[in-house]
Amino acid sequence: MGLMGTRILVTEDNEDNRHILRDLLTSAGYEVIEAVTGEEGVRLAETQRPDLILMDVQLPGFDGYEATRRIKGNLALRQIPVIAVTSYALSGDDVKAREAGCDAYVAKPFSPRDLLVKIRECLAQGTPGAPS
Ligand code: MN
Repeated sequence: MGLMGTRILVTEDNEDNRHILRDLLTSAGYEVIEAVTGEEGVRLAETQRPDLILMDVQLPGFDGYEATRRIKGNLALRQIPVIAVTSYALSGDDVKAREAGCDAYVAKPFSPRDLLVKIRECLAQGTPGAPS
């Protein structure tokens, strides 16, 4: 069992946040792909087929919800778990995330430990029957 080869697409426009997530995820053994805009996130989902996507909600251009709708609207991509990451714990964000097709939701500032647990849960649910 190992995380080798498990790739996570981080879609996040803030450089500091990307750095934090890159360090956290690579330390946990994941491979990280990075996108800065929603458009790039959708494109990398299509071309790189990551195992999971962390989707910042507030992005330049179309936002993380729209990017998630586009990914989930693609039959070839819709099984990829998407975790929405919001900047504020606004009431209703969890509902918006679900409506956009996100599989889970975390609000900044998130606990690194909790985020890793959520990622593991989503990976387990996203690949039924996959070897582990
Ligand atoms: Mn942002």
